Amino acid sequence: MSNDLENEVLEIKKYPDPVLRKKSEAVEVFDEELEKFVKDLFAAMHVHDGVGLAAPQVGVLKKIAVVEYEGKSYVLINPKIIEQKGTQLSEEGCLSFPGIYANVLRPEWVKIEAQNEKGELQTLEAEGFTARAFLHEMDHLNGKVFIDYLSNLKRNAIKKKISKNTGGHF
Ligand SMILES: [Zn+2]
Repeated sequence: MSNDLENEVLEIKKYPDPVLRKKSEAVEVFDEELEKFVKDLFAAMHVHDGVGLAAPQVGVLKKIAVVEYEGKSYVLINPKIIEQKGTQLSEEGCLSFPGIYANVLRPEWVKIEAQNEKGELQTLEAEGFTARAFLHEMDHLNGKVFIDYLSNLKRNAIKKKISKNTGGHF
């Protein structure tokens, strides 16, 4: 394999790519390959100006996601929700849905448990936007996307917009 290939930025899968609907498997091996993949996820997220990215969004069905917000980076491997409180309604987007934004209701605060790339178990508490990002990325690991939270009417309008966009490009 050439260095050029290894340094290539991971391609983001766009809705309706079927990989976005599949459930990811738990990570069991914590090795150099995993550490490299986590770095590659951060790199792809930075290139696309995202605040979070989950492995299925690059076609890898493993329970791995990264989030970066207000200068803090989070690696979420095999994440689980321990507790959640309150609600927040705010606009959300997704790198797999370029140009699409919609208001999504989420818990205001979450406590999650996740491993990092070394396999160490961490408990993380987050509120507001960070909580939203954690939950959005964790949904990806279960084959769920943010438009699933919208009314049929709104969801269909978005699907229509997306199919028009795809028709115009290649
Ligand atoms: Zn997303």
